Amino acid sequence: MKAVIVNQPGSAEQLQIQDFEKPKLQPGEILIHVKAAAINRTDILSREGKAGYMSNPILGIEVSGEVVEAAPGVTLTAGTRVMGLVNGGGYAEYVTMPADRAIVVPDTLSFEEAAAIPEVFLTAYQTLFWLGQLKDDDTVLIHAGGSGVGSAAIQLAKQMTKAKIIVTAGSEEKLAFCRSLGADITINYKEQDFDEEVLNATNNQGVDVILDFIGASYWEKNLKSIKTDGRWVLIGILGGTEVEKVNIMQLLLKRIHLKGTLLTPRSDEYKKELTEEFVQNAMPLFAQKKVKAIVDSVFPLTDIQSAHKQMEANKNIGKIIIDVSL
Ligand code: NAP
Repeated sequence: MKAVIVNQPGSAEQLQIQDFEKPKLQPGEILIHVKAAAINRTDILSREGKAGYMSNPILGIEVSGEVVEAAPGVTLTAGTRVMGLVNGGGYAEYVTMPADRAIVVPDTLSFEEAAAIPEVFLTAYQTLFWLGQLKDDDTVLIHAGGSGVGSAAIQLAKQMTKAKIIVTAGSEEKLAFCRSLGADITINYKEQDFDEEVLNATNNQGVDVILDFIGASYWEKNLKSIKTDGRWVLIGILGGTEVEKVNIMQLLLKRIHLKGTLLTPRSDEYKKELTEEFVQNAMPLFAQKKVKAIVDSVFPLTDIQSAHKQMEANKNIGKIIIDVSL
């Protein structure tokens, strides 16, 4: 089969298509004929040799496609359309995954749309509800609102709670899109001090929950934006990892719950439980057309380098998809 590997750690030019053996089915797994895969920031970190938690030489952590073979005892049959989180190996014609976290793709979704769902919607669900404990009376601050995870989080927060949603993003186009998904207040972080805008919008109380994809560069402003007893979920480090002159007094005074998380290195059991709850509570929203997969662009597998460059240029709104039908 054809698959994408990293020639040597570095830029997008290091991505190459090579011939590989089809992966072999392990107990409890399904073999999927991949139709579409999606790009994630973790793939970029892996490509650069910075994600020490990936062991599969083939990039890609989420796919959609058709089951071609199932291990004994697995009830999914050949031909079933599925999507889900794979343990690497997604940028390929075939991949295996644990059957117990495969999501059956509803007829209403194309393979491109399906590939846009697992990683960002599961992360949004997990960080809003499991880690952020978001409730109806809360206010949530979602950074990078035009991102894959951000755009999923806006929709889930809107459809599953009555929480007030404040969003930051770096362009008017992205902010308008966030409003169309349900954001109540949108802030252009390049033109406004988001902490001041958040305090204005919350009677100087701050927000109950922050989904923070940015990290270091937002540290001070996030501290000012969060309410006493707030839940601050650190999901990404797009703004760097090192905070200078940290005064931890504010963490004490505000009794802040600062929670870091990474989904990819979590256990198969955790991903199964998360997927099961998501399928039960959130998948019906797709059929009801209350929530949608946001596809920014589709690149053929042969143009994988351009797909990575698109994400690195922060151009996408929603997901960048790879069409794997070679
Ligand atoms: P994405 O679609 O590529 O979007 C990221 C957006 O963030 C960019 O388009 C850009 O939009 C904004 N951004 C980039 N650098 C920034 C900076 N320095 N300051 C402020 N905004 C910045 O990303 P994604 O795939 O949704 O992922 C979002 C983040 O979540 C990534 O950091 C990713 O690694 C992380 N993530 C974590 C987990 C986990 O389990 N912890 C799971 C999935 C994703 P603007 O135009 O608005 O600047």
